[in-house]
Amino acid sequence: MNETKRILLHVCCAPCATSCLERLAANGNRITLFFANGNIAPAAEYHKRLQEVFRLGKLFNVPLEVDDYDHNAWLQWIAGLENEAEQGPRCRRCFAYSFSRAQSAAEALGLPAFTTTLTVSPHKPSPLLFDVGKDFPRFTPWDFKKKDGFRRSLQLSRHYALYRQNFCGCEFSRRDKRGKGVD
Ligand code: SF4
Repeated sequence: MNETKRILLHVCCAPCATSCLERLAANGNRITLFFANGNIAPAAEYHKRLQEVFRLGKLFNVPLEVDDYDHNAWLQWIAGLENEAEQGPRCRRCFAYSFSRAQSAAEALGLPAFTTTLTVSPHKPSPLLFDVGKDFPRFTPWDFKKKDGFRRSLQLSRHYALYRQNFCGCEFSRRDKRGKGVD
């Protein structure tokens, strides 16, 4: 196996990971999933998403690494940005948190590259993610929105009957969705 084809895939949730896994595998990558989501609250929601990622790993026959879950550390990391709107400075900082975890994991596992499923979501601007990624030497930009990646993720999620949440992850995204009458 070509060393450059081994990649750590930071996974935000199982539905988003579906089409990313398919795309990376079709390009000859050997993938390790990495569930690092200190941003998710409450803990029950974190465990629900993790369980689905575990199931997805089994379905695609790929290994899964799970980061420590420390939501308080994440809250300290974004302190002062709690009231920012989604896609603003809080999310930028949140992405940096996940990428720093992925960079450390890639180094520890001896993997030359990492990327993220976050680029498949229409709510996560890929140029912003790529800009944050510049600070992390092993970050490799994959724009999974391309080639109808999001629509494909919906198809595959339905096919595998994966749990799909209706808020991004943190308590602030949940609060803002509730304010709009969702959840
Ligand atoms: S809305 Fe999503 S990306 Fe933004 S800070 Fe919350 S969990 Fe992170």
